[in-house]
Amino acid sequence: MTDIRPTIRLKPKANARAIRHGAPWVYDNEIVTDRRTKALAPGTIAVLEDEGRIPLATVAVTPASRIFARVLDRDPAAEIGPDWLRDRIAIALALRERLYAAPFYRLIHAEADGLPGVVIDRFGEVAVIQPNAAWADRLIDDLAAALVSVTGVSVVVKNAAGRARALEGLDDVSLVLIGQDPQAVAVPMNGATYVADILGGQKTGLYYDQRPNHAFAAGLAQGARVLDVFSHVGGFSLAALAGGAASALAVDGSAPALALAEEGAALSGVADRFATRAGDAFAVLEALAEEGARFDMVICDPPAFAPAKPALEAGLRAYERVARAAAGLVVEGGYLGLCSCSHAVDLARFRTACNRGIGRAGRSAQLIHTGFAGPDHPQHPQLAESGYLKALFYRLIP
Ligand code: SAH
Repeated sequence: MTDIRPTIRLKPKANARAIRHGAPWVYDNEIVTDRRTKALAPGTIAVLEDEGRIPLATVAVTPASRIFARVLDRDPAAEIGPDWLRDRIAIALALRERLYAAPFYRLIHAEADGLPGVVIDRFGEVAVIQPNAAWADRLIDDLAAALVSVTGVSVVVKNAAGRARALEGLDDVSLVLIGQDPQAVAVPMNGATYVADILGGQKTGLYYDQRPNHAFAAGLAQGARVLDVFSHVGGFSLAALAGGAASALAVDGSAPALALAEEGAALSGVADRFATRAGDAFAVLEALAEEGARFDMVICDPPAFAPAKPALEAGLRAYERVARAAAGLVVEGGYLGLCSCSHAVDLARFRTACNRGIGRAGRSAQLIHTGFAGPDHPQHPQLAESGYLKALFYRLIP
């Protein structure tokens, strides 16, 4: 098999040892490129060799991308087909089945689960694939079939909305690959029931990564008046209500997301304690301050203000603004949860921005907990970027 595969070779200065030690990516400036390598179709399976032509790994190549090659298997002779895909999915499934009583989780978290660029979320009988790398887009039918055979799901959807797809030269057409269009699905999590819109919603319909942070907030929520800003389908507010919150107000710019949150509140049996407000979060925070509204807990979970390095400074200012506006709405002795899902903003920088915002609001605080993405979002040890989600929980004190 392998002898008919194209080969690509590392430049003498490239770090072959990093690949031998498990680094998942090879950048374009590390590869000897010529007309032949540049002409490889995006997603081509190839053998990566070191400068002395010793095979290092089986890789997937996208010549037009900065990430020229992604390591699929450290065995240079690995056959990337149905069996291989099934093995990878089965290994990922074993962890999730151990972690969760019900089949609602991120099943595949890309490089960390051995399927570079591939994200798969599971909603019971429904699985949603985001093939954000060309190799996976080419093998999408095999991937969908492997998913059905390993997990037993009956519906497989392809979500092509990911921003990374353009870098791989891929289209943005989402579609149902197997089974019927599932539309909205009910998802049990932390004692609440969420409603996720699989094809129309953002991301893959639900933010599983926040599950442990939802749980932490819920644990503080007994009797609390909760404000959930950037709520999406009610991530923090429905968990807080299930945890005994007196009331929750969910704020989001997306009216469809809030409509799903209302549906979730009804299914969770908490609709009488739940309200929503559609609008720009900054404007709503300001309006609430003017109205004199105060809350026992405020959570802000904005979209990535700094998805990449060039946006870092502006992103940090936006996080500080959010912290300042939100802190002003928390009663003394109340709680403030601030989240960032920006890859480019590390924990220390994010904490500094939040601390400054709280200080500028004239408030004092204790940092009581730092949360991250849940264990169904494992991190690849050599990809710092995969630790993107941070959640800081403060108690505001006199
Ligand atoms: N807190 C949610 C996830 C939030 S995702 C959870 O735990 O599940 C970020 C949300 O911010 C999205 O729903 C998006 O619609 C919303 N959003 C983005 N920009 C906004 C803005 N300027 N004002 C209000 N909402 C905004």
